[in-house]
Amino acid sequence: MEGKSIISGTGFAGILSGVRRIVIAVHSHPDGDAIGSGAGLLHFIGETLGKEAVLTIPDPIPDNLSFLLEGVPHGSVLFHHENPEETVSAISEADLIVCLDMNAFNRSGALEEPLAASGAKKVLVDHHLNPDSGAFDIVFSDTRVSSTCELLYRILMETEQIGHDASRLPHATATALMAGMTTDTNNFANSVFPGTLAMASALLAAGVDRDAIVNEIYRTYRENRIRLMGYLLDKRLCITPCGVAYMILDKETMSRFRITEGETEGFVNIPLSIGRVRMSIFLREDEGFFRVSVRSKEGTSANSLAMKYFNGGGHELAAGGKLFFPADIPSREDAAPYIVRVTGVFFEGK
Ligand code: 5GP
Ligand code: MN
Repeated sequence: MEGKSIISGTGFAGILSGVRRIVIAVHSHPDGDAIGSGAGLLHFIGETLGKEAVLTIPDPIPDNLSFLLEGVPHGSVLFHHENPEETVSAISEADLIVCLDMNAFNRSGALEEPLAASGAKKVLVDHHLNPDSGAFDIVFSDTRVSSTCELLYRILMETEQIGHDASRLPHATATALMAGMTTDTNNFANSVFPGTLAMASALLAAGVDRDAIVNEIYRTYRENRIRLMGYLLDKRLCITPCGVAYMILDKETMSRFRITEGETEGFVNIPLSIGRVRMSIFLREDEGFFRVSVRSKEGTSANSLAMKYFNGGGHELAAGGKLFFPADIPSREDAAPYIVRVTGVFFEGK
């Protein structure tokens, strides 16, 4: 099946209207962009097109994003970790699947196999590098946007129903798209394009309460998260001679601070505020591997480092991956020397 790339949204509503069972899928460990675009599309399908759809999510979402799923129709969100059979059935029986904020099925964890196996027509809406176009029937892909939410906004605005008038978007869609764009730009600190500000302006004018969104996302953390952040910055932050900052969060420290995985979101960005740091790497221990986050300043490719040394990828300046032990390093204690070595090679060729 050959992928077909189109960038116009005019046909999008028609594609959705012509089918019966619609499933939306997002990537594993979903972030604000995944949940924002997923919830935004779910409300558009329900309220604008008057159809039912199901949003399938592979893992739990961080608490500060749960407001985005309030008010969705009962039964329209399925979490694989809570309800694996129903989630897999929804995907297998779908007529149309829209994958959001992932460039390939392998970014969707437990949903990967059901997505690949499903006979549904498959649509991709994404802003990552290297989309697996061959796996989809229709591909909306653009890396020159802040977020999947911005790309979806552009697509929805082009539909006949919305007709380039943001005030016709369902209020919940407008709020969710603003929220996802906000988290993927780190609240307008990076990846901001002219279209990003145009979208923000139009959504604000349409009545989105941005202050409330920012409050929900950035001012509802638990005290433990802030105390762990302080501890890591004080005791664990290392900076190599090449200007690579790294912090490694082991399991023991996570339990000492009673931290859940979603609560470390954003930690990786902080060391970039140091002048001599050009790249920041954050490792969080999981079962037999570290989850890796990489961020870089202009001129240094986080994507290329994550692809070469951390089994991952993402965007030019924001990428992620995994470091397995013992496959990549003999044991977890070898993570720090590994980072020092591979970033030395990456920057200095030695
Ligand atoms: P984060 O550090 O916030 O988890 O991820 C940053 C970016 O890298 C996101 O755009 C995300 O999609 C991508 N990313 C994170 N983990 C992986 C991974 O394991 N593989 C790939 N290909 N991309 C990843
Ligand atoms: Mn995104």
